[in-house]
Amino acid sequence: MNSRKSLLTSTVLNLAALGALPWACFAQPDPNWLDHDRNRPQPPVVAPATPSTPEQAGKAPSDATVLFDGKDLSQWSSLDGSPTKWITRDGYMECVKGSGYIRTRQNFGDCQLHVEWAAPVPAHGEGQGRGNSGVFLGLDRYEIQVLDSYESKTYADGSAGSIYGQYPPLANVCRPPGQWQTYDIVYTAPRFDADGKLLSPVHLTVFHNGVLIQNNVQLTGPTSWLERAPYQPHPEKQPISLQDHGNPVRFRNIWLRELGQSDKKEVASRTAGLTLPTSLLDSYAGKYDSVEITREGSQLVALVGGVKFLMFAESPTKFFAKTTDVQIEFPAGVQGKPDRLIWSVGEGANEAKRTQ
Ligand code: MG
Repeated sequence: MNSRKSLLTSTVLNLAALGALPWACFAQPDPNWLDHDRNRPQPPVVAPATPSTPEQAGKAPSDATVLFDGKDLSQWSSLDGSPTKWITRDGYMECVKGSGYIRTRQNFGDCQLHVEWAAPVPAHGEGQGRGNSGVFLGLDRYEIQVLDSYESKTYADGSAGSIYGQYPPLANVCRPPGQWQTYDIVYTAPRFDADGKLLSPVHLTVFHNGVLIQNNVQLTGPTSWLERAPYQPHPEKQPISLQDHGNPVRFRNIWLRELGQSDKKEVASRTAGLTLPTSLLDSYAGKYDSVEITREGSQLVALVGGVKFLMFAESPTKFFAKTTDVQIEFPAGVQGKPDRLIWSVGEGANEAKRTQ
């Protein structure tokens, strides 16, 4: 297969020139792989999450890091690392006024984060004083507001599901206080260069109770009250925090999936393909059941599914394309025009008989 791994060098180099940019924010097909590449690693098999009910928290997907399963706070501490005074009870944790934020002991960068929360019941207070907490990424820098916004008004960019002070949620999806609610968050950490200059801001996507409320928004900097604070450089991986805003907000079923670069591979050495006699190539040209073969200069061109592919020779009978994983093989040891060929795109093998 090595000879087929001859790909688009110039594209790779162009991307390398952009190497300082975090690829995750500009996701695009990896040029190291052909379209439909049969050698591309399979995605990992993950058992899905099970949904929660008001009575019972669901289960995390099989590849998640469970940060809180309702029983203990061993993975959490106060911001300074000392044990937290938040309490656990009946499958949830609850903020204790004045005890301070809690943070994970582990650090995380780009991730999918699931959090369930419930505002105090009966509701108490108004506006920012009613069921206020927050889910923070990047330690205590970037807040997704937790607030009892059920039939309760506050400034829009501080309501439930807002990126505090920057982006109101696209919808108010709040359930009544006391009912469990879900946040499903996709976080892309900011990137800084070696001098601390911002290369790419925080990106956040948030679903509240299954409804999209933040659609890949770009943060202007840390979330804060009264001001738009500028970014300060920090490591990509940081703890996740929950806010103590003085209200006994409850949390349960917190899990996280780290988002990485699962299918990177080394760029293989590149070959141009063999040069074959045009008389041999001409013998292959013709119409087959589902494929048409022509010769252009010193190469074959295959028309597959209405798309033309320039084919490169791996051997006198085997050909491959360099953009999509198209392979064509003619029978070996045939004198003159072969009466069939075998073709495939990414998988399998299909026989096509010559019709012309
Ligand atoms: Mg808050």
